[in-house]
Amino acid sequence: MEEIPRDHAGRPDPVAARRACARLVPVAGAVVAAHWVPSVAVLGQWGPFSSLPGELCRWQGPRDSARVALTFDDGPDPEGTPRVLDALDEQGIRATFFVLGEHARAHPDLVEEVARRGHQLGTHGDQHAHHLVRSPLWVYQDILRARGAMASLGHPPRWYRPAYGQPTGSTLAIARAIGLRTVLWSAWGREWAAAGPGEVAASVARRLRSGAIVLLHDSDCFGPRGMWRRALGALPLVAAELRRRSLVPVTMDELLV
Ligand SMILES: [Zn+2]
Repeated sequence: MEEIPRDHAGRPDPVAARRACARLVPVAGAVVAAHWVPSVAVLGQWGPFSSLPGELCRWQGPRDSARVALTFDDGPDPEGTPRVLDALDEQGIRATFFVLGEHARAHPDLVEEVARRGHQLGTHGDQHAHHLVRSPLWVYQDILRARGAMASLGHPPRWYRPAYGQPTGSTLAIARAIGLRTVLWSAWGREWAAAGPGEVAASVARRLRSGAIVLLHDSDCFGPRGMWRRALGALPLVAAELRRRSLVPVTMDELLV
């Protein structure tokens, strides 16, 4: 960076300082844009896309697979997770749980129980924060902590879903550099807005097709109370719909080999 001229008292020349700052504006703008643009791109989950180029982010699996992945975010939760696990057992479904690092450290026994029952574990980050308002360094440290939490419990994650489904450019690049595969969803229960399990199941059914990745929650931690209960109540309905459409519920590993 060029030297800013100073007066005899050592004060920077105000005109030159303003010019130097003005020259930095496009650079700062480019950095912010690179950080934010993929967040806009993730709106593609409502469009015809299934992935960003270079496998930076996936929204769904193969359309001809007849497989579907049910996924649960925000746990493990001492209230919701055990009930969801029992309901999945009743339906004979194996799912994928995107757990938070801070919750995994608080409830390692539940993490173990999820794995023991044959489900897959992914990471949802360490803290549940919007990456849009966090620095790339914060995101890097958060993902590292989350991966470390899972690895120390003997379950190093392969799959990563950023909080609120809002990865930034930094999020996608960092996750990939660390060796995690970022995945969002193509169908969701919208439990936070649904009046009951029927609405959750109907919301899922609207986008339930071969290769779908379905977002549900086994915790109320980051939404209105009752979210996981609505997801729990919807599970038999979703399972029936899967059977009706001859779709097979599988883990993320099995959906995206
Ligand atoms: Zn979440």
